[in-house]
Amino acid sequence: MKKWFAVLCFSIFILSGYAQQTINRPKLVLGIVVDQMRWDYLYRFYDRYGNGGFRRLLQEGYSFENTMINYVPSFTAVGHSCIFTGSVPAINGITSNEWIDQLTGTRVYCTGDSSVQSLGAENAEDGRMSPRNLLVTTVTDELRMATNFQSKVVGVSLKDRAAILPAGHSANGAFWLDDASGNFISSSYYMKELPSWVYKFNEQKRILSLIKNDWNTLYPINTYKQSDPDNNPYEGRLPGENAPVFPHRIKDLYQKSPGVFRTTPFGNTLTLEFAARVIDGYQLGQGPATDFLTINCASTDYVGHMFGPNSVEIEDTYLRLDQDLAKFFSLLDDKIGKGQWLVFLTADHGAAHSIGFMQKHNLPGELFTAQYLVDDLNRALNSKFGDPKLILSGLNYQLNFDLRKINDKHLDFDAIKRTTIDLLLRERSVNNAVDLSRIAESNLPEPIKTMVTNGYYFKRSGSVQVIYHSGWLESYARTGTTHGTWNPYDAHIPLIFMGWNIAQGKSNHLVHMTDIAPTIAALLHIQMPSGCIGVPITEVLK
Ligand SMILES: [Zn+2]
Repeated sequence: MKKWFAVLCFSIFILSGYAQQTINRPKLVLGIVVDQMRWDYLYRFYDRYGNGGFRRLLQEGYSFENTMINYVPSFTAVGHSCIFTGSVPAINGITSNEWIDQLTGTRVYCTGDSSVQSLGAENAEDGRMSPRNLLVTTVTDELRMATNFQSKVVGVSLKDRAAILPAGHSANGAFWLDDASGNFISSSYYMKELPSWVYKFNEQKRILSLIKNDWNTLYPINTYKQSDPDNNPYEGRLPGENAPVFPHRIKDLYQKSPGVFRTTPFGNTLTLEFAARVIDGYQLGQGPATDFLTINCASTDYVGHMFGPNSVEIEDTYLRLDQDLAKFFSLLDDKIGKGQWLVFLTADHGAAHSIGFMQKHNLPGELFTAQYLVDDLNRALNSKFGDPKLILSGLNYQLNFDLRKINDKHLDFDAIKRTTIDLLLRERSVNNAVDLSRIAESNLPEPIKTMVTNGYYFKRSGSVQVIYHSGWLESYARTGTTHGTWNPYDAHIPLIFMGWNIAQGKSNHLVHMTDIAPTIAALLHIQMPSGCIGVPITEVLK
C-alpha cells in the first residue's frame, strides 16, 4: 500500500513538473511613466485619491519609496531611455532631449530622423522620428527577441520621444500627438501606413469633446487645501489668458493655439483612451506571447512647467489622473483578466518648487541665466585666448565649446577649461564645476560624482558640467517650474509594481532608475537590455 502511495506521489510530482515546463508569464505588461511626477505627490494628494488608481497601486502593489535617478541631466528623453534600458546616457547615448553633436557642432533632437517620413501629421516635416539615436536595446526589445518576435510592443504618449524611446528599436508601433491636426501619428520607421483603427480614433475628434466644458476644478475650488491660492505671480499664463485662474477657457484658447490642449489634465485622459484603443487594435494580451504597452502621461509635465508643483492646477491634474488610471485599470481587469497583467508606474523626473513659492517661505532658491554666464565667460576667455566665442552654449547644465575652432587654432583646451572653471567657481549661483574628461579627479561628493559620470558621453555632451546651488532655476522658469538637476526634488521618483506575481508591500531601501528594466526582465525570464547596469529588485517577487 505504502509502495503504491509512493508511486502515486512520484507520478504527481512528475506531472506537476511537466505542467511547469511552460514559462509562466503575464499576458500583458504596462510601463506607465507619469511625466514630472515627484514622489511626494503619492502622499500629498493621498487623502483625496479614490480606491482604484494611486491607492490601488499602493494597497495591492509594491512601492519603492526611495527610488533615485542616477545620472544628470534629469530630462524626459533621458528618463524614458533609462527606465526601459536600465542604462545611463554614458552608455545608451541619450544625453538629453537635444544635444550638440561634438564632432560636427550641430544641434540634434533625440528622436529626430530625416531618413523616415511622418504618417498622419498635418505638416509633413513634423513626425519624422525614430529611436535610432538610442545605442542599446530596451527591455521591450529583449521581450521581442526572447519570444522570437511573437510578443507585440507599442508605445503611446503625447510626446514623440516618450512614445518612441520606451518602445525600443523593434517595436510594432509608437504613436504620439500632432498638435496641428489633433491626431495621433507615427512614422514610416514602424509601418507603411497608419492602421485603419487609428484613423477611426482620430476621426472622432475626441479633443473637442474633452474640452467642450473648459477646465474647471473637479471639486469645489475651496477644497484644494494642498495648494497655494489659485492666483499668484509665480504661475505662468496659458497663451491668450490674462490670469492663471480657473476656469481655464480651453475651448476658446484651443482655436488659436492647439498646443494648449497638452497643458490640461485631458491630455492624460486622451492618452489613456488611445492606449485602450491600441490594446484592441493590436489585440494586446490576446496572443500566444506576452505583450508590452508603454504609456507616458505627459500632461502632468506641461501643467507642472506652466503652473508649478504647488498650484491648484497640478492638484486637480493629479486628482483627475487618479480617476483616469482607475478607469484604465478596471478596463484591463475586464479585457485581460485580474492578475493576468503586470504594471509598473514611475516618473521620468521630478521638479523643483517654484521660485516665488520658495522665496515667499524664506526657502533657498534664486534664478540664473545660463546665456549671461556664457557671455561673461566668453568675454573673459577672449582677453586671455584671443577669441570672442569659444563657448557655444550652456545647454543641459553643461558648457559646449567650439571644439573645431579650438583645434584649428591650436589653442590649449585644458587651459581654457581650467580658466572657465576658476571663473565659474566664483559665481554666486554655482556650487561646483568640473572638467567632464577628468571627473574622477574632481572633488564632487557622492552621489553627484557618479551621476555626472553616468551622464557624460563625449560625442553628445558638453565639456564642463556646472552644478548650481540647490533651488537655483534657469530664468525661463521665473513662473511655473523646471527640472534637470541631481537634487532630490528632480531625482526622487515614484516606483510601484502591481499585478501578476507581484508581492504587496513597501520598501525604503535605496533603488535606482536603472533597476527597473532588469527587474521586469527577471519577472519575465528574459535577457536584460544590452547596456543595462542595474540589478533586479528582489522584494517585488512573490
Ligand atoms: Zn518629462
